[in-house]
Amino acid sequence: MSHKYVYLFSEGNAKMRELLGGKGANLAEMTGLGLPVPQGFTISTEACTQYYEDGQKINDEIQAQIMEYIEKMEAITGKKFGDKENPLLVSVRSGARASMPGMMDTILNLGLNEEVVNVIAEKSNNPRWAWDCYRRFIQMYSDVVMEVGKKYFEQLIDAMKEKRGVTQDVELTADDLKELAGQFKAEYKSKIGTDFPTDPKEQLMGAIKAVFRSWDNPRANVYRRDNDIPYSWGTAVNVQMMAFGNMGDDCGTGVAFTRDPATGAKGLFGEFLTNAQGEDVVAGVRTPMHISEMEEKFPEAFKQFKDVCQRLENHYRDMQDMEFTVEHGKLFMLQTRNGKRTAQAALKIACDLVDEGMITDEEAVLMIDPRNLDTLLHPQFDAKALKVATPVGKALPASPGAACGKIVFTAEDAKAWGARGEKVVLVRLETSPEDIEGMKAAQGILTVRGGMTSHAAVVARGMGTCCVSGCTAINMDEENKQFTLSGKTYHEGDYLSLDGSTGNIYDGIIPTVDASIAGEFGRIMGWADKYRKLGVRTNADTPRDAKKAAELGAEGIGLCRTEHMFFEGDRIDYFRQMICSSTVEEREKALDKIIPFQQGDFEKLYEALEGKPVTIRFLDPPLHEFVPTEEADIKKLADAQGKSVEDIKAIIASLHEANPMMGHRGCRLAVTYPEIAKMQTTAVIRAAINVKKAHADWNIVPEIMIPLVGDVKELKYVKKTVVETADAEIAAAGIDLKYEVGTMIEIPRAALTADEIAKEAEFFCFGTNDLTQMTYGFSRDDAGKFLDAYYDAKIFENDPFAKLDQVGVGKLMEMAVKLGKGVRKDLHCGICGEHGGDPSSVEFCHKIGLDYVSCSPFRVPIARLAAAQAAIKDSRN
Ligand code: PEP
Ligand code: MG
Repeated sequence: MSHKYVYLFSEGNAKMRELLGGKGANLAEMTGLGLPVPQGFTISTEACTQYYEDGQKINDEIQAQIMEYIEKMEAITGKKFGDKENPLLVSVRSGARASMPGMMDTILNLGLNEEVVNVIAEKSNNPRWAWDCYRRFIQMYSDVVMEVGKKYFEQLIDAMKEKRGVTQDVELTADDLKELAGQFKAEYKSKIGTDFPTDPKEQLMGAIKAVFRSWDNPRANVYRRDNDIPYSWGTAVNVQMMAFGNMGDDCGTGVAFTRDPATGAKGLFGEFLTNAQGEDVVAGVRTPMHISEMEEKFPEAFKQFKDVCQRLENHYRDMQDMEFTVEHGKLFMLQTRNGKRTAQAALKIACDLVDEGMITDEEAVLMIDPRNLDTLLHPQFDAKALKVATPVGKALPASPGAACGKIVFTAEDAKAWGARGEKVVLVRLETSPEDIEGMKAAQGILTVRGGMTSHAAVVARGMGTCCVSGCTAINMDEENKQFTLSGKTYHEGDYLSLDGSTGNIYDGIIPTVDASIAGEFGRIMGWADKYRKLGVRTNADTPRDAKKAAELGAEGIGLCRTEHMFFEGDRIDYFRQMICSSTVEEREKALDKIIPFQQGDFEKLYEALEGKPVTIRFLDPPLHEFVPTEEADIKKLADAQGKSVEDIKAIIASLHEANPMMGHRGCRLAVTYPEIAKMQTTAVIRAAINVKKAHADWNIVPEIMIPLVGDVKELKYVKKTVVETADAEIAAAGIDLKYEVGTMIEIPRAALTADEIAKEAEFFCFGTNDLTQMTYGFSRDDAGKFLDAYYDAKIFENDPFAKLDQVGVGKLMEMAVKLGKGVRKDLHCGICGEHGGDPSSVEFCHKIGLDYVSCSPFRVPIARLAAAQAAIKDSRN
């Protein structure tokens, strides 16, 4: 038997979502429940993928099945395509597995031509309605199927209204609409070169093709990337008999939710328009009435609709979003789905459904999209203001939240303007560690270069500050403190607004509102913690971040990047002295100045975490990132070191590397300068001893993590210094202190030889930022430049620095865990690359048996929820 691509609504059910798409599966389910659904059929998502496989063609087999199902539909409805007595008119609508509102295309009133329109005009005794349907169909078909812009038709409508001296579409008469239909067809012919198609079957094939094609339109591609929806899923197409809401004042159409999608409050929420078709409600051409007013106009239909709402919500055990039409007082259900909702509403609805006995707490946990939690933790734009704003640019959504402020171009200005109470947005070509204080003072950060794991992105996420990175469309002129974007030149002091959750950039002021965490948040998190198996730690380098993370539920620090502890005040000076030392003695002198800061910071981290595990990673970055670039700073360093400016410049030049990410960094620093590892070990151990003395009940076991190991011998070499130093400190203190030495797995060779490495490492932590960079062999800072081309060419669907490449990088991780645990049973394994806060990556970490994920503080709740969902799904399989 040939493969089945087409299903009548009566052949499907809600479980067939993968095949029939959400809309098709739910139309089938409603049909099964005996609800008033105009009948039709669904062309499966497999037909869509086949269409693309066949080079964007609907093959003969699928076409034949569609024709067969038109006949079945005609038999069921008693109407026929193109019939002179009882013509069939249909809607053709997209419906993917996951709902993608507004992203794909819809065509209504298909099946009309000059003959049919006359038949329905006469039979209904309502020529105005008939011609209104026809002109709408020509307009939609031309726009969606043939891609003739909507605007040409709108111009014709406006001209007609002007000619008749009316302002509303509904004021146009049957004759006006008939004339318009003629003008539309002429417009079609002038743009396309052929007559508007009259054969309903030809119209249908064109419409189906257009819906398949709309799966690949730019806005759908962006939506999918933002929402983790794979391209390979494809969309289904629903062909459904039309029900008409535009046949007169006893007709109408509406959209309603069973609970308020903004607040989650229980109760019918929606809008209704009399004498209208679906698109009118969504498009806002007329102002709809509140759903409650429908009761007065259509008491019978409203009563029935309320019953249907209750039934559907009880049936799906979730808030429903429905589309319906009333035709001569009779109700028809056109769609139902689990409604989209704000993060706040999602939490409230989940908790209310548990309290109402509709769902279990486990189901409540599964119901919340972890990525939505972001919006609860960061300021957001005022939704109304955002709706009417048009972005002037879009780049990577590097750190969520909303920011609005005056443009500044340097970190110093950000700090100074911030100190006098101004809200600023810091715009930089790229950020460097020196910018940290300016980044802290800014509401938001916008960079021209850099990807999702660039310095700006990582630091901003850690601080919870909004950041949009990698906006290559900006033409930057830092020297004159100005840039151009979308044809406009922006100067210092101009207002700019950034949306770090979408990457959108807006001209001017869009007001922001603060985040508010409702009471339900804690309940959901509590349930999540009950189910998850993965631990959740945080990447934090300052006591402030560590505290915030602990408040948000972090169970330890999985990564403290010690180089981030040198940004402030005099520290950078001492650090530079350490880097620009010519002898071991000079370096040790600089290290002596550094050690009190390090020890003090470590103590504060231990205090903030109250005895929970703390992983301290030793110095990792290419040193040249820290050297001064300004003349004054170079002079200051020269004076401090008793060297000439030329000497310092020569040292700086010698630190320059062609490929710094693969250069003198990571454990290579500790191999060349063991005194750095010695200083850091001393600081870690002394801090732990002091805190342990003050808090005898805390179980303090420092975890020392060596970065960028590729060969076990590197680890062994550095570990020797660490162990000798630590043991001497512990012995001198006369205290019993355990500590662990482990490594990051972030070079493919480390993963490949993990069994060797585990002989020396007591724990592994996957540095998937570097592991991704080195596995793919492209730079984490520069990949943004070509990723868009990769998305367009369908080589990548997502940024592999944001969402773990489970196939390649993931394979290395899985292998390393197996090899490592095979040698050392109690080896604990975590991840601290940016993927540790990405839901689908967290799920993968659960599957391969990691012990914990570690992510920036504000992503801790996301990771907790994603870990719980992974565990629940796993236990159900
Ligand atoms: C990593 O490489 O994944 C990591 C966490 O280290 P960093 O980002 O500091 O290189
Ligand atoms: Mg790394």
